[in-house]
Amino acid sequence: MAFEGLADRLQQTLQRIRGKGKVTEADVKEMMREVRLALLEADVNFKVVKDFIKRVSERAVGQDVMQSLTPGQQVVKVVQEELTALMGGEQSKIAVSNRPPTVIMMVGLQGAGKTTTTGKLANLLRKKYNRKPLLVAADIYRPAAIKQLETLGKQLSMPVFSLGDKVSPVEIARQAIQHARDEHHDYVLIDTAGRLHIDEALMDELQQVKEITKPDEIFLVVDAMTGQDAVNVAQSFHEQLGLTGVVLTKLDGDTRGGAALSIKAVTNTPIKFVGLGEKLDALEPFHPERMASRILGMGDVLTLIEKAQATVDAEKAKELEQKMRTQSFTLDDFLDQLGQVRKLGPLDELLGMLPGANKIKGLKDVQVDEKQIGRVEAIIRSMTMAERENPDILNASRKRRIAKGSGTTVPELNRLLKQFEEMKKMMKMMTGMQQKGKKKGGFK
Ligand code: GDP
Repeated sequence: MAFEGLADRLQQTLQRIRGKGKVTEADVKEMMREVRLALLEADVNFKVVKDFIKRVSERAVGQDVMQSLTPGQQVVKVVQEELTALMGGEQSKIAVSNRPPTVIMMVGLQGAGKTTTTGKLANLLRKKYNRKPLLVAADIYRPAAIKQLETLGKQLSMPVFSLGDKVSPVEIARQAIQHARDEHHDYVLIDTAGRLHIDEALMDELQQVKEITKPDEIFLVVDAMTGQDAVNVAQSFHEQLGLTGVVLTKLDGDTRGGAALSIKAVTNTPIKFVGLGEKLDALEPFHPERMASRILGMGDVLTLIEKAQATVDAEKAKELEQKMRTQSFTLDDFLDQLGQVRKLGPLDELLGMLPGANKIKGLKDVQVDEKQIGRVEAIIRSMTMAERENPDILNASRKRRIAKGSGTTVPELNRLLKQFEEMKKMMKMMTGMQQKGKKKGGFK
């Protein structure tokens, strides 16, 4: 997961100060030395680190903190607030033109994920904001970029405007906007030409596209894995084009996080979205506050709830609750449950959103558990419906058949059955408690 090293170190350092009833200047100084090292190791720009440390130190030894009843906690709060401010403070909104279409120019170096992100953004605009975007293929230099955008358009069932690779990007952009007006598209996403390096020809061309399209947003797509390079690229593009936002891709990878923490401070351009995978729905608005909480191990429950609301089927949840209450919950329902949980995303990512989850020993090895879930699913899938409804009929020969069919073993199957029984007992207890509560006229 991204930020893992940074998160570990910061949390260890803050843990020591959190519980302190009295914090001296020397305590703060020592802590800040460690925070500074942690940030530098995460590849955060050194100047950004210096300013950050200065701001936090000043506030941490201030009267508000020192004289409060819980100075240790106050220091942690200061770090969280400053980390949030560093990444841009508030979540930044995407522009809406009062003379549609709203034009977004997507710029970036080759391989950063520009074309993919253009598709993802169109998908998000339609899904979340109910918009009708037009994709424009103006990256005429990278072989296959046009084809790639057309394929993305097909996957999304979304139109792609293209004039091949013989027409200049400026002309493509001009005609695309006219086309969008004619066809009543409210957003135009222009996938502009990328290059391997920043060069004058590229910037000239992008400036011309900017001139002719008068974009409402210019988003730079950068690869988070490239760390400080991403920050330098952002700075150059910003100087020459005037960016309105950055999209940081590949945050699902093993990045140390330096780019995410430095871009806003160095370029004064906010990160607006982050890419979290190759799939077309793996783009999320960037929330500085939530990201800061996640880095400090305070969890990101809001994102988790949003994810759950977007993916979990409300009807099914109700049905399930009913089944739990009437104790008719079967192995088949359990299989269904596992599927729902899986839809939320990889387990280690979900755990990262729970406050303090990283402190629980063993949770670091959840990848193993992910495999475990796969095995449990395979076992249940190898059962007949009758067996799933009533596991009591499982005799030795049926068990051997299931273990063979699922590529597992009989002891594993027995363990699952035992756990399932335990689970049902728990449900019974819990519903029993609820019933009692109701009878007493307890909470609704
Ligand atoms: P472009 O040259 O900038 O247009 O780059 P592409 O859109 O072709 O992307 C380059 C590679 O990065 C592709 O293999 C994408 O699938 C991959 N990619 C893009 N965004 C992400 C992301 O957020 N996470 C991951 N893991 N891969 C990404």
